[in-house]
Formats: sequence, C-alpha cells, structure tokens
Amino acid sequence: MSAIAFPEPDAGILARRESIIAGLSRLVSPQALITSDDERRPYETDALTAYRRLPLAVVLPSTTQEVAAVLRYCLEQGVPVVPRGSGTSLAGGAIPQEDAVVIGVSKMNRILEIDYANRIARVEAGVTNLAVTGAVSAEGFFYAPDPSSQLACSIGGNIGMNSGGAHCLKYGVTTNNVLGVTMVMLDGSIVEVGGAHLDSPGYDLLGLINGSEGQLGIVTEATVRILRAAEGARPVLFGFPTSEQAGAAVAAIIGAGIIPVAMEFMDKPAIEICEAFAKAGYPMDVEALLIIEVEGSDAEMDAQLARIVAIAREHGVKTVKESQSAMESAAIWKGRKSAFGATGRIADYICMDGTIPTGQLPYVLKRMDEIVKAYGLRVANVFHAGDGNLHPLILYNCNDPVEAQKAEDAGMDILKLCVEVGGCLTGEHGVGIEKRDLMTFQFTETDLAQQMRVRAVFDAGWLLNPAKVFPLEGRVAA
Ligand SMILES: Cc1cc2nc3c(=O)[nH]c(=O)nc-3n(C[C@H](O)[C@H](O)[C@H](O)COP(=O)(O)OP(=O)(O)OC[C@H]3O[C@@H](n4cnc5c(N)ncnc54)[C@H](O)[C@@H]3O)c2cc1C
Repeated sequence: MSAIAFPEPDAGILARRESIIAGLSRLVSPQALITSDDERRPYETDALTAYRRLPLAVVLPSTTQEVAAVLRYCLEQGVPVVPRGSGTSLAGGAIPQEDAVVIGVSKMNRILEIDYANRIARVEAGVTNLAVTGAVSAEGFFYAPDPSSQLACSIGGNIGMNSGGAHCLKYGVTTNNVLGVTMVMLDGSIVEVGGAHLDSPGYDLLGLINGSEGQLGIVTEATVRILRAAEGARPVLFGFPTSEQAGAAVAAIIGAGIIPVAMEFMDKPAIEICEAFAKAGYPMDVEALLIIEVEGSDAEMDAQLARIVAIAREHGVKTVKESQSAMESAAIWKGRKSAFGATGRIADYICMDGTIPTGQLPYVLKRMDEIVKAYGLRVANVFHAGDGNLHPLILYNCNDPVEAQKAEDAGMDILKLCVEVGGCLTGEHGVGIEKRDLMTFQFTETDLAQQMRVRAVFDAGWLLNPAKVFPLEGRVAA
C-alpha cells in the first residue's frame, strides 16, 4: 500500500547518521543503542504493517534521565524522534521515518509503588497493561482499561493513544484512569503533571497528554487508578437474527440508562472466525452476537440482567446464554479478545476504528456492509457496541495492490460515515498516520490550526512524531 505519504527524509540528517550515532553512544550504554539493519528491522513498523520505514537508530533508555539526555541531544541536532512503547498501534502511531531516532520505553518496565489504601499504582511507562492488573489482582484489585492487546501494549502507549477496551464502557478509558505522569519534554526538562490525587488546579494538562500520540513529550512514569474488583461478574451471550436488531438492542439498552460493564458486538463472520479459534461456545445459528457482562452481587447481576433480557426480547433476540463457570467466562472473553489475531489467520485485514452515537448503530451497520460490498470486499465486525466504537475488519489480500487500495478506500469511506452521523474518526486507536489526512474531514481549518498551535508550544520545530495526526500540508509553526 502506498496511499499514505511520508515526508521526504532530510538528506542532511541521513548524511550525518554516523556522527549522530556517535553522539547517542555517549549518552546511553551500547546495549541501549540499536544501529544495525537487522536489529532496527523490528522497529520499522507497528501493527499497521502495510507501512514501514527503517529508522535512523533506536535508543532504549532505562531511566528518565537517559530519556532526557537523548531528547535534548535530538533537539540540538534537529533530529526527529518517534516515541515507542510496544509497537502495537493499529493507526501507525509508532511507525518511524528514515531520518528519525526511535526512543522506546520497553526497558522501563518496573512497578514502582502500589498503594492499596489510596488505590493507586505508580509504574514506569514500559510496563505492560496486563502487568498492572497482574501486580494487584491477588489483593482483589485491577486496572480497568483493557485493550485486547493488553498482554503486550505498554502504559506509555496506552497514554499516547488514550486506549480503551471491552470494560471501558463502565470504567472509562485511559484518560479516566491515569492520575499523574512524569513526562520528558523535547528540551530534556522533566515535568510532573497531576499526581496521586484527583484533579489538579490549573489547566487539564493530563487530559491533553492522554491521546497526544507522542507529540508533546515522552512519558516515563504514570500513576494509575486501581479499582477493587466486583463481587462477581457474568458474561451473557445474546444471539440476534440480524445485525440491525442487535444494534437496535444496544441503542435501547444504553437509552434506558443501563450501563453494563461491557457490551461487545460480533457479526456472523466475526462469530465464525472467533469460535473457530477460541471454542467459546458462541451460538452459530445467529447473524449477530452481543456479549454483555454484568457485575456485582448475585442479586445486582440478576436485576440488571432481567432488564437487559427484557429489552433484548423486544428486539427479537433468538438466544440468551449465561456463562455457567469461570472457565466458560474466560473462553467467552478469549474469543472476543483474540478477534484480531484470529482474523489474521484467515486473511489480511485493516482494522478501522471510528465512533458513532449508539442510536445510529442500526443505520451505520447497514451502510458499512453496503460500502464494503460496493468495493467487492468482505468485512467482519467486532466492536465495543456500548461505546458506539466500531472496529470493522476489512479483509483483503495484501499481495494484490488493487485490492489493498480498495480496502483502504473502503475504510476511509466508513470513517467519513462515522463523522457524517455525528461521530468521530477514532474511538481508541488514535489518528497516527492512518487517519491523519482525514482530519480535515472532521475539523475546520481554524480548529486544526488551534490544535497545532497547542502542539507547537511543546515542540515548535515539529520534531516529535512529526508525520502523524496533522496533515502534512498547512502546518502551523507556533
Ligand atoms: C491485536 C490488537 C488488539 C488491540 N486492541 C485494542 C483495544 O482493544 N483497545 C485499544 O484502545 N487499542 C487496541 N489496540 C491498539 C494498541 O494496542 C493500542 O493503541 C496501545 O495503546 C498501543 O500501545 P503500545 O505500547 O504498543 O504503543 P505504541 O504502538 O508503541 O505507540 C502508540 C503511540 O503512543 C506513543 N507513545 C508510546 N509510548 C509513549 C510514551 N512513553 N510517551 C509518549 N508517547 C508514547 C507513540 O509515539 C505512538 O504514537 C490493539 C492492537 C492490536 C495489535
């Protein structure tokens, strides 16, 4: 695929590569500096694998001070920097450019402090999402945002993308669960934003940093909220004769003011793909499936479930199947959370990520199907229905450039549809390079110029992750 343009690499920087590497080698240990072709290769892309560029060099610092020294040096040298966590971005947020130094935080992976009394954990940015829950689960606590990539993705990357997950319907996404960060600015200064407490006086800079896609600084530590796990949790499978009926049921449940912990949607292709992989016991004689999880005491779960079942029946639900054991619950979630990997077993795919008002679900599901069929392609839908956060997986053959382009075009049409119905271009995967050129579809020139001015306060010369988020044309310096 070649539709998304990268900026031409700066020939002057490429010519100075050896001296830049020599400068970096004075700041970090040899083990923390990657320069050979073979060892740089794993950093040339992220989960948007259709695009790749070999970076100038990769640095893996172990401390905040090392991050500061490397950033200061890159600023002095005028070298672009691409911050990187685990490289699982689906929007190309961590894909480098040839004249950039990648600064990866994967070696900064210590849990620094757990404070159960105040319900917080302080962690380094390279700690994986699941490791936070792993560190506190024995005491009955968990970290709520749960991207399906949680085994691999880092807290720094979650902050970069303001990531979400199946259980964010009730508990909110990353921005609702991060209380403070240590961030290194491009000039090497180290700032503390927020802390181990709710709210802060002054501007909501933490809100700005969550979702800033590595363009404001590099987060090296985070203080996150940990929550006490509910008494019990029960996922329930609701099978519907049509996707539109399932979509209408979601809209009606949310409209009735019911907020389950999770409400996930799968259409027929997704059910087949996930069941073949996870053997989760999904019903195979339905066109659409909702996985709805309720939690609390048995009485609370029964009461909430009764209301949900009543609404589902009004919308023609065909199957209602409650999980009967912890093993069954785990299989149900394994199926849902492996959806992308399971799809990858049968075809190449682009995973789109847009958000719509939940009331528009029935219409949008129908239109998405029409759009993809018009390109002669297939789609599997699996998404966070309660949040209206769509993830159509458009299937294609990456060895066929024409088909690859069609898949990308169909994805862009779907994102435009999201905006047209009052939604937006992203739900949780960020903008990255993938949706950068669609930002003009969502925002006016004035809106974008103001956003770029804010960015420029942190990085006047556009050195931090420069090819991302904002269109390459019409960039505002300060
Ligand atoms: C199979 C699969 C399933 C997924 N499921 C979900 C899901 O359910 N929900 C969801 O939200 N996402 C999901 N994702 C997308 C991805 O996992 C998230 O965007 C994740 O937060 C990225 O984390 P990372 O550590 O891999 O970051 P990277 O991909 O390395 O980077 C992501 C962005 O953050 C910036 N960044 C990274 N670290 C830092 C830092 N320390 N300081 C400042 N900026 C930084 C990067 O520059 C980049 O812009 C999925 C991806 C895959 C492959």
